[in-house]
Amino acid sequence: MRIVVLGAGIIGLAAAHALLDEGHEVEIVDGEGPAAGTSQGNAGWIEHLDVMPLASPKVWRHLPRWLADPEGPLAISPGYLPQLAPWLWRFVLASRPGRLDASTRAIRAINAQSLPAWERRLKALGLEGLLRRRGFLSVWLKEGDWKASQKMLELQRGFGIEVETLGGDEARKLEPALGPAIMAGAFYPTGANVNDPKLFTLALAEKALERGAKLTLGHVARIEPQEAGVILRGFEGQVVAQGERVVLSAGIWSKPLAASLGDRVQLDTERGYNLTLEPGRLGLTRPVYYEGLAFVTTPLDTGDRIGGSVEFAGLKAPPNWKRVDAIIGRVKRALPHFDPRPGEGRRWMGFRPSTPDSLPIIGASPQDPRVVHAYGHGHYGLTQAAATAEAVAALIAGRKPAFDLKPYDPGRF
Ligand SMILES: Cc1cc2nc3c(=O)[nH]c(=O)nc-3n(C[C@H](O)[C@H](O)[C@H](O)COP(=O)(O)OP(=O)(O)OC[C@H]3O[C@@H](n4cnc5c(N)ncnc54)[C@H](O)[C@@H]3O)c2cc1C
Repeated sequence: MRIVVLGAGIIGLAAAHALLDEGHEVEIVDGEGPAAGTSQGNAGWIEHLDVMPLASPKVWRHLPRWLADPEGPLAISPGYLPQLAPWLWRFVLASRPGRLDASTRAIRAINAQSLPAWERRLKALGLEGLLRRRGFLSVWLKEGDWKASQKMLELQRGFGIEVETLGGDEARKLEPALGPAIMAGAFYPTGANVNDPKLFTLALAEKALERGAKLTLGHVARIEPQEAGVILRGFEGQVVAQGERVVLSAGIWSKPLAASLGDRVQLDTERGYNLTLEPGRLGLTRPVYYEGLAFVTTPLDTGDRIGGSVEFAGLKAPPNWKRVDAIIGRVKRALPHFDPRPGEGRRWMGFRPSTPDSLPIIGASPQDPRVVHAYGHGHYGLTQAAATAEAVAALIAGRKPAFDLKPYDPGRF
C-alpha cells in the first residue's frame, strides 16, 4: 500500500521502518524535517521499567508542596487553567484506584515490549551501537520518600522487573560522584539509554530514506478522507500528500489534525526543561533518577543532560528558564561538587504530548479506519516508539499486535 506517515519524530520514523518491513510504499511528511519536535531533546532513556502513570499516589502526595512553589517540579500556569480544565478532570478520574490499576497494567504491557522492539529494529538497521547499557540508578535523599517508594518497587518486582535495592554507600560505590545526602538507591541492571536523542532520531530518518521512504517537507492543516484515498491538505488548501493509509504521528500537534477528521482526543502538553553540559561534567557513568527532587541526569555521548520538570502552560507561552535554574538548585543537593559557571550549558524546553491517563493514543480512527493514530506518548515516546511502530504495522496488515491495543484506543475519550 501507499502509506503516508505524518510527522518525522521518533514515533513517525519508527512507524515508517515497520511499514517498510511490510513492503509498503512509505512517504514521510513533516513541516520542518526529521527530529524537529520533542524527539530532539529528551533525556534519552529507554524507560521500559517504568510502570506508574502521572496520576499516581506519589504525584498526589507531593502535589500541594510542588504547586505551592512556582519553580517546583510540577507547575500549572494559572492563565492556562481554563483551557486545561477538561484534561485535568480526566486526570482526576484517571487517579481513581481501578483506573490507576488499569493504566499501570497498560503502561507495563507496552513498556515490556519496548526494549525488545528497539533491539530488533536497531539490529535490522545495523544501529545496535547507538544503545548504551549501563543500567539505571534511582536514588533517595529522604527516609520518608524511600519508605513511600517500597510499594512501587514491589509492584515492579511483581511484574518481573529486575531491581536491586542499595544503601547510600552502595549507591556511591556505583556512582562515586553522588553526595553524602543519598541514603538509598535502586539499581535496574537492564536500564538502557540512547547515544543522543537527536542523533538517534536522525539516524533512523537517514536509514528510512536509504530503504526507499520518501520525505516531503510540508505543513499539514487537515486530514481529508476521500473515496480514492486520504488527502493531507496544507494551509493554502494545496494537497501535501495522499495515501491509501495515513499514520498520524505529529506528537503534540496531532490534536487539531485528529479534530480535522472529527476525532476528539484529550491531549495536552507537559512542557519539560533540561540543561546539557559538556560530556563528563557531572562525573556520572549511567542515567540516574533523583526521587523526591524529580529530576534525572543522563551521560549522553554529546553531553551530560540534567532534566525534569512538568509545566502546564500550553504551546504558546515562552519558556520560563527559571525552571532550569530551579533544577540546578536541586541538583546541588544530590551532587554537591557541581558548581555551574554562569551561563554554562545549553538550555532546552520541549513539549511532551500527554494524555490524562499517561497512555499513548494508538489505533484506527473511529471516523475513518484508513487513518491510524500514533501519538500521545507523554514521558515515554522514545521508549515506546519501536513497540508502537510494530503495533501500527500489524494493525494495518490486519494482524493481531503483540499487545492488546484496547487501552490505547483513540475513541476512549
Ligand atoms: C524534557 C523531556 C524529557 C524526556 N525524556 C524522555 C526519555 O528519557 N525517554 C522517553 O521515552 N521519552 C522522553 N520524553 C518524551 C519524548 O521526547 C516524546 O514522547 C517523543 O519525543 C514524542 O515523539 P513524537 O514523534 O510523537 O513527536 P515529535 O518528536 O514532537 O515529532 C512530531 C513531528 O511532527 C511534525 N509536525 C507537527 N505538526 C505538523 C504539521 N501540522 N504538519 C507537518 N508536520 C508536523 C513536527 O515538525 C515534528 O517533527 C521526554 C520529553 C521531554 C520534553
